[in-house]
Amino acid sequence: MILLTPGPVQTHPTVRAAMNEDVAPWNAAFRPVYEEVRHRLRALAGGVEGVHATLPLQGAGHMLMEAAIRSFVAPGAALLVPMNGEYARRMARLAREAGRVVIELPLPDTRGARAEEVAEALSRHPEATHVAVVQSETGSGIVNDPAAIGAAVRTAGRRMILDAVSAFGALPLDLASQPEVDAACFTSNKCLEGVPGFGFAVARVDRVEECAGQAGSWSLDLADVWKNTQVNGWGSMRFTGPVQAILAMRVALDRLDAEGGREVRLARYRANARALHEGFAALGLRPYLSVENQGPIVVTVHQPEGLDFPRFIAALERNGVTISAYFTTEAPSFRVGAIGDVGLLEMRRAVEAVRDSLAELGLPRAA
Ligand SMILES: *Cc1c(COP(=O)(O)O)cnc(C)c1O
Repeated sequence: MILLTPGPVQTHPTVRAAMNEDVAPWNAAFRPVYEEVRHRLRALAGGVEGVHATLPLQGAGHMLMEAAIRSFVAPGAALLVPMNGEYARRMARLAREAGRVVIELPLPDTRGARAEEVAEALSRHPEATHVAVVQSETGSGIVNDPAAIGAAVRTAGRRMILDAVSAFGALPLDLASQPEVDAACFTSNKCLEGVPGFGFAVARVDRVEECAGQAGSWSLDLADVWKNTQVNGWGSMRFTGPVQAILAMRVALDRLDAEGGREVRLARYRANARALHEGFAALGLRPYLSVENQGPIVVTVHQPEGLDFPRFIAALERNGVTISAYFTTEAPSFRVGAIGDVGLLEMRRAVEAVRDSLAELGLPRAA
């Protein structure tokens, strides 16, 4: 079976094998591993020692995003969210339910937000202390450019929180040149090609300390995560964490280095996404995005007329490919991930599985 959901992703057998061990988080042998992973992730984010810290949190990306919003946006304060996809909607919901005020910037879901649109919205909303941006919108495949949007946020004197969950490890991020970013958040199981279990925020230490005490949740308080490292050291973990996922993360980071680093990985994903985009077009399927708006993480196409979506997903599984079992675009679609420990061979097999599954459902000519 090829796993082509845009997270969790297909992992290398050595990554999974690293988990074959029982360890306590407080074990002396484990602490240096945890510390090392935190240093390496900060470096990958372009973070600076003494300025930025990797603040891990057990659980899924949603929990990390909620923690970042709670930890950096004051209760009752307002944040602007460029709304061009499902993960922007989710961030807005997390913020509202945490008692923060959300200002939605409505945008089409087929292209990235433009810096001038964010600048204009900020000028109309002086009350917004933050802009919360999704770097790679995993519902559709579009990309928002954090450097360009961040420059607009910086000029306006506001702060930024970045959902880099499906981007980190592949798309560029340089926190050293983006002092307006309070935190960039991501998880272990997307472009880092690790297993699920952990989220991470690479955050500014000065801001973490300034904002201490406003999360309103002990579990989701990044300032408390930071405080814990000050009291107990970088190798210490709050509460019981998925130790095995961290052991796997270290091997996954070794594999990223061995591959040649982030840019080489990005090139592999771009080639994967191109192969899917072209392969689906050749089957007569209509891509959801134009080529220039197609990011490297996930490829989304319109469902052909008359498609029984649950039966299609089941047929794909019979043909050896698992994709996301739901869609989040305005028009019905399906999406195939281009990320994980996969290359052009897996992409070709995915296109063939889509072709065969459509034929089984009586839709041989999709267009
Ligand atoms: C996957 C994803 C999330 C949420 O991650 P979970 O681990 O599923 O909670 C958030 N934002 C983006 C952009 C994602 O791709």
